[in-house]
Amino acid sequence: MMKIKGNLLMQIFIAFVIAILLGIIFGPSIEVIKPLGDLFLRLIKFIIAPLILASLVVGVASTGDPKQLGRIGVKTISYYLVTSAIAVMIGLAFAYAISPGKGISVSTPEAAAEVNETDGVIATLLNIIPDNPFTALANGNILQIIFFAIFVGLAITLVGKKAQPVYQFFEGFAEIMYKITGIVMWFAPIGILGLVAPVVGEYGIAVLMPLLKVIIAVAIACIVHVIFIYSMAVKKFANMSPIKFFKGMAPASIVAFSTCSSAGTLPVTLKNTQENLGVSRKISSFVLPLGATINMDGTAIYQGVAVVFIAQFYGLDLSFLQLLTVVLTAVLASIGAAGVPGAGVIMLAMVLTSVNMPLEGIALVAGIDRILDMFRTTVNILGDASASVVVAATEDELWVDEPEEVQPS
Ligand code: ASP
Repeated sequence: MMKIKGNLLMQIFIAFVIAILLGIIFGPSIEVIKPLGDLFLRLIKFIIAPLILASLVVGVASTGDPKQLGRIGVKTISYYLVTSAIAVMIGLAFAYAISPGKGISVSTPEAAAEVNETDGVIATLLNIIPDNPFTALANGNILQIIFFAIFVGLAITLVGKKAQPVYQFFEGFAEIMYKITGIVMWFAPIGILGLVAPVVGEYGIAVLMPLLKVIIAVAIACIVHVIFIYSMAVKKFANMSPIKFFKGMAPASIVAFSTCSSAGTLPVTLKNTQENLGVSRKISSFVLPLGATINMDGTAIYQGVAVVFIAQFYGLDLSFLQLLTVVLTAVLASIGAAGVPGAGVIMLAMVLTSVNMPLEGIALVAGIDRILDMFRTTVNILGDASASVVVAATEDELWVDEPEEVQPS
């Protein structure tokens, strides 16, 4: 079975390299293979809502202990907040070191600076409670599904024997959704080809050149954050070798890089953390869907770099107080950003407004957003995965030698 898994990873990697070559060779005309990417994206997206519902209901019901659930919740959210704040600071530091906005002129695409209204904090919090859980499921509202699933799981425990058939139903249903994930993953190499080649074809070197420094600053800050913070976290809390962590998460990382959607990557993130890292289903089915919605370290890094870039471009100096404001609002922006492509660039409006910077600045980076999104989404899912390892280790829910068998192939 290990051999098959290894093969799939190899195939994904080869598809990724071929996609880059095809993009370079054929340029924008490689767009014709995009439907293959869209097909894969749709295949993994349809798994999300039922998978979260079933696996989280089972996770909560098998805990049967509201206290443990509360503890897991506090640990998860604390980890998410701390790592996101560190991420913004790393982003700011590398942006200052690389100075991407000094002495450049950029032609601004029009499509940018379309700013969406974001709800207030209280409205956002209230909105976690669904009007109707079935609407939440139909719309794929992850936080609302989590809320509903936790309640159903707790109630199953409280009801006891009479609710057992429901528990068994969700247990079987979760198993089915994991199986479907495994089947869909066989299609990943072709899907990645269809996702990556058109992006490479569209952004030739000429488009990227003027903003190369921004891309480099985001990429380096992402790499540093991932290597230092996540390696340290999994080593310190779980005594897990960082190599095992990154290798185990490689398929999800490539899928995140290709799809630019941490919500879309969720089924693969769940599968990788359970099968390759040994995180229990109980922990992963709570920590990961929550993380895909509220924890976005890559997005936070990007906000830091983008703010410094835009300030430098307009010749503005940011005071210490303004930098602190950026850290705070960028963390909030990363929490508020949805796990879909391009969400981070919309949330940038909130950060720029908080320090009175011109919103037109968004237009400067919008043209290359897809490229930046690839890096930040990969960091986003790795951040969630590292949290699942840390929380699982501290709850004695990490299978060190024998990972929980989820997807026998
Ligand atoms: N695309 C990112 C994600 O799905 C969000 C962002 O745009 O920053 O994780």
